[in-house]
Amino acid sequence: METTAPETSVATSDIADRVKRFLHVLIEPRSYLNGLYLLTAFPLGLTYFLVLTAGMISGAFLSIVLIGLLILLATIVAAWGFALFERELAIGLLGFKVPPLALPDPELVSPWRMLVRHLGQPATWRSLVYLFLKLPFGIFASLVSGVFLGGPILGIVYPLVRINVDGPSPQTIGTLIFPGVFAVAALALSMHVLNAVARAWGRFATDMLGVGEEQRQVWEAKRRAEAADSSRRELIMNVSHELRTPIASIQAHVDSLLLPEAERPDAAESERRLRVTAAETRRLSDLIEDLLMLARADSHELKVSNRAIELAPIVEQVGHALSPLARAERSVTVSVEDLPAGVRALGDPDRLAQVLTNLVRNAINYTPEGGVVSVRVDEGTFEHIRIGVSDTGPGISAGDLEHIFERFYRADSSRARNTGGFGLGLSIARDLLEAMGGSLSATSQPGLGSTFWISLRRAPTPE
Ligand code: ADP
Repeated sequence: METTAPETSVATSDIADRVKRFLHVLIEPRSYLNGLYLLTAFPLGLTYFLVLTAGMISGAFLSIVLIGLLILLATIVAAWGFALFERELAIGLLGFKVPPLALPDPELVSPWRMLVRHLGQPATWRSLVYLFLKLPFGIFASLVSGVFLGGPILGIVYPLVRINVDGPSPQTIGTLIFPGVFAVAALALSMHVLNAVARAWGRFATDMLGVGEEQRQVWEAKRRAEAADSSRRELIMNVSHELRTPIASIQAHVDSLLLPEAERPDAAESERRLRVTAAETRRLSDLIEDLLMLARADSHELKVSNRAIELAPIVEQVGHALSPLARAERSVTVSVEDLPAGVRALGDPDRLAQVLTNLVRNAINYTPEGGVVSVRVDEGTFEHIRIGVSDTGPGISAGDLEHIFERFYRADSSRARNTGGFGLGLSIARDLLEAMGGSLSATSQPGLGSTFWISLRRAPTPE
């Protein structure tokens, strides 16, 4: 008895799960998009067939005179337009990632060269075959849709009409409930069949309407190389820009201290200038550390261990380390929620502490005096645990929120400059967390504050 009870409940929940999955097709938007695709396949296929055959036949007959060639040309252009439209339909309605019909080529400037290249491409002829095959497919799709959907829809509509006409008496409902349930199940089955047809055609469309795999890989490699090149150029520009201000400041201060004795500032001013120089030098050294870290992340050399770590001590240690500073410097309270022991995630304890320190420091910097920064652990999902760092600062606008993880991005450059950051902290934090198999995200309510969420993979519980 003791063993059969759990088994029965497991089996029941398994069946319930399968039934749920089977019926889910009825509420999936994709099923209806697929249905729309199948229902429009015949009229579209017929249109392509009529336009293309009429264009080709009349063009071929009249080709001895110029007008025939023009008709042929117009037919090629129409076929190209139809193929582009079909590609969009396969992407939008069937949900397939169809590669482009042709790869962009900046050297193609004249329409004549474009036409010659177009005619020489296998994708052009493949897409033409596809357009002609769309008609038989459309006939097939209409027949299959009619056969599979007609019965179940009738089976659902008929009881509803009967209940409406005869009134919702228990007797009417009783006699109609079984056929109604049967019709719903049949509708779900039909939608599975139609989805399978749509998927098969979607795969075919992907092969017929996109450029070949090899050509695509070459193009993709070229695009990646160009992107890497432009990001390198952008990085050099940003770094030069960031170096300019502190170096100019150091230079001006040091120069003033090297003036002849009579022109040199007094002792107090000299000391102030030396302090500024020291602070700027530290900032530069931090920037170099950050840049090295980014370079390591880019070349996948970030050394990050991924072992099971207890979160409570790390979160508490960061909170305790920064709390006195926050109180003394800005009257900001750092509150760390009591964490249950034994919450473990996969990651690197030192790197996690570094990321947390960065987020809490940012939160303190952007919180006005008297505000609160709170750190809490959220149980997240079955697979992930989240650590949230919230503040009562000015928040981040939706427009800025999209960019704050980009390198050198500062939402409000004047305020951010005062805080001393280069706009690299968050992008490094994200790189570090991603190397741990986690992620970093942020939510914010402008005027009320922001929350940065660290998400880490949950560590398996020890036996
Ligand atoms: P920085 O070193 O300039 O702080 P970060 O990469 O850490 O660079 O942050 C990028 C930008 O995101 C900051 O310049 C700031 O505009 C914004 N930001 C980060 N944290 C907060 C926060 N807690 N509240 C408001 N804005 C923030």
